[in-house]
Amino acid sequence: MPATADFIVIGGGIAGVSVAHELLPHGSVIVLEQESAPGYHATGRSAAVLTENYGTPIWSRLVSASRGFLEHPPEGFATAPLLTDRGALFLARAHETGQLQAQYDDLIVRGARVELVPAADALRWCEVLRPETFATAMHEPDCKDIDTNELMMGYRRGIRAARGVIATGARVTAIRRDAGGWQVDTSAGAFQGGTIVNAAGGWAQQVAGMAGLGHRNVLPFRRTAVTFDAPAGSNLHRWPMTFDLAETFYFKPEAGRVMVSPVDMAQTAPCDAQADELEVALAIDRIETFTTMKVPRISHKWGGLRTFAPDHEPVIGADPQDARFVWLAGQGGNGVMACAAAARLAAALATGQGVPADLAALGITEGAISPGRDCVVDRMAEDVPAGTLGG
Ligand SMILES: Cc1cc2nc3c(=O)[nH]c(=O)nc-3n(C[C@H](O)[C@H](O)[C@H](O)COP(=O)(O)OP(=O)(O)OC[C@H]3O[C@@H](n4cnc5c(N)ncnc54)[C@H](O)[C@@H]3O)c2cc1C
Repeated sequence: MPATADFIVIGGGIAGVSVAHELLPHGSVIVLEQESAPGYHATGRSAAVLTENYGTPIWSRLVSASRGFLEHPPEGFATAPLLTDRGALFLARAHETGQLQAQYDDLIVRGARVELVPAADALRWCEVLRPETFATAMHEPDCKDIDTNELMMGYRRGIRAARGVIATGARVTAIRRDAGGWQVDTSAGAFQGGTIVNAAGGWAQQVAGMAGLGHRNVLPFRRTAVTFDAPAGSNLHRWPMTFDLAETFYFKPEAGRVMVSPVDMAQTAPCDAQADELEVALAIDRIETFTTMKVPRISHKWGGLRTFAPDHEPVIGADPQDARFVWLAGQGGNGVMACAAAARLAAALATGQGVPADLAALGITEGAISPGRDCVVDRMAEDVPAGTLGG
């Protein structure tokens, strides 16, 4: 296995493999993944939907800009469609109707297909809802399920075909910069590279710390999910992904069952996240409150990490302390659906090309996503002399 490359990508989730794929025309690429299987952490635990009405302004624009790739991937990339129909339903209480209207207006301007209806009409898409708590609903028919496995496989095949390397079981333990570039020690041996791309998800801050960079506020938060059997005779396969605007629950069909999340967001250390028992109970309670379903038995429960900057916008671009250390992090709940455009953006910035014209036309600027922006750089931690933190 070659141990030297122009680009060393740390992290083999969707961010790592997608940016590696985008970097292939610009030089040799090695992806380092600590686990034995790429996608083991956040990427393998997501709800796997694409909706243009989710996340912050820049993330939702990156979702719109990713749709073309996911709908029509390059020839030979995938062996099955990456997207299948799902639809999304957003439920607003009376005091949230103005907020839903604003989201609707924004989506219309962006060319999305959406329909606003009285909440009671939402029963035509999902017959188990109890609509009485809600005033208004918005239906987004073009929300899609993403085949994350096929997407990951497509990127991995592309990387291997171009002689890129994905090294699994390669946990990065130390990073040094010298005249020859970056020296990266891992549990699978030493690697060298000209530019590091930090795609380490919940571990992104830890990886930057190993490289000797200052603290960046890019932190993981746990989310819990549960699946259970749908009521007999229900139209499960036709139900949309259903959210409430207040973000207290969402549910969707998932592999023949119902998946529900109480949309918890608990800051945590980077780890193999597990379901939180209190959140599991809340998930069941919300399903039984807002739908006519009962949950006699849970089929499966899991936790996953979603990683955020304080403003929840992307953290993409060169670190302010070292132009050869490029971030692709802070994906929050948009990392799979926005992967294609985010990877293209990160690769363009890693190779000094600036923001691609189509993304600039959407209003995306380097400053707004920079790891050097004020809310991401922890000035207080930076001002403290080394060795005085902790205790
Ligand atoms: C319950 C849940 C539902 C979600 N639903 C959706 C959804 O519907 N749609 C959507 O788009 N997104 C969704 N997300 C968010 C999405 O899963 C993430 O944004 C995305 O997977 C982040 O990808 P990533 O590659 O950055 O992170 P990860 O997949 O976590 O990859 C980071 C990788 O870096 C590796 N790594 C870390 N440290 C090291 C090291 N020192 N050495 C080597 N490797 C290292 C890790 O092992 C890991 O594999 C959801 C997330 C959760 C938890």
